[in-house]
Amino acid sequence: MTSCVMSVPYVDLAQQHAAIKNELMDAMGHVLDGGKFVLGSEVHEFEEKFAQLCGVRFALGLNSGTDALILALKSLNIGAGDEVIAVANSFVSSVSCIMAVGARPVFVDVNAESNMDPRLIEQAITPKTKAVLPVHWTGRPADMTAIMSIAKKHHLAVIEDCAQAVCAEHQGQKVGSFGHAGCFSLHPLKTLNACGDGGVLTTNDPDIYEKVRILRDNGFRTREECVMWSNNSRLDTIQAAILMVKFKYLDGWTEKRRENARFYQDHLSDLSEVQTPVDEAGTRAVYHTFVIQADVRDRLKAYLEEKSVGTKIHYPVPLHLQPFARGLGYKRNSLPVTEKQAGRILSLPVYPELGKDGLSYVAQCIHEFYRMKGKK
Ligand SMILES: *Cc1c(COP(=O)(O)O)cnc(C)c1O
Repeated sequence: MTSCVMSVPYVDLAQQHAAIKNELMDAMGHVLDGGKFVLGSEVHEFEEKFAQLCGVRFALGLNSGTDALILALKSLNIGAGDEVIAVANSFVSSVSCIMAVGARPVFVDVNAESNMDPRLIEQAITPKTKAVLPVHWTGRPADMTAIMSIAKKHHLAVIEDCAQAVCAEHQGQKVGSFGHAGCFSLHPLKTLNACGDGGVLTTNDPDIYEKVRILRDNGFRTREECVMWSNNSRLDTIQAAILMVKFKYLDGWTEKRRENARFYQDHLSDLSEVQTPVDEAGTRAVYHTFVIQADVRDRLKAYLEEKSVGTKIHYPVPLHLQPFARGLGYKRNSLPVTEKQAGRILSLPVYPELGKDGLSYVAQCIHEFYRMKGKK
């Protein structure tokens, strides 16, 4: 292999938007002309399409994935005195939503795939437990068969954090359709992305749907009648119009992410220092991120930076060890697998526009790093 020098950013949103700019401009122009910027028809069209994609009865456009999680908990009447079983290797919202409604997170450790370990759920259940909140981490579905069966046995609600996992499948079924509610983010860095903030809640339950519909709109059931204390969590019409354009490309983009992931899986498999995620049969991972576990991770990251390869760590400090969690009583070694992985994980560029040249370059740099390290 020749060592051609290039630069591979971690993401490249400009490239995505350049390819579809005219379509996006038309869609936005249409909203400007119509002037219905709040809950316009595009929002309802988007919701219908999103529900269809996920195989659920209802979807509601919201202003963020964070609010989707908060409203899911509220709609299930989870609040003060309640406990929710959660993971600590996620983005803060997966847990701050629980604190936001006045409940308490109870952490369980993750498995080798960095998803909630179902074997640890039952021992975390107390009389106060009301719900389980698994995260489909990196776009790889958690074991929903096991989680749903435990939840059913103990009469617990299940809220799926699908922020990274639009159209991911477990046993041929879409995430967001297993639990009582699925919570999605449309943040610019997610796989289905708005040009700003956005979120979606999915559900098959008409009561949850109706409650969240009211909660996202300041508690209004109708224009005249306000029935709940709430706030404003609506998805903008202009974002819905943008998302309707992006729907057309989502499947292609996701397949590209999956192809890119396969490239890394094939080209890094000979390195004993690196573990790549494994695709299980029946699972469709959508690779919001491609996270390897690597020996001497920090040195590898620095080396890749020198070689102009952008990488990230999602996340270096697990949530139970963050300053905001001090009051919850967790210590180092409370979640050994989560903590061990936090020291080894590294997210490689996997965005759909990344071509074979870029992928080869990244893989080659990683090989180079461990070869040189072996000689030292
Ligand atoms: C991005 C993300 C969220 C929050 O979504 P926002 O739209 O940024 O509020 C929640 N959970 C996970 C796992 C995420 O990745």
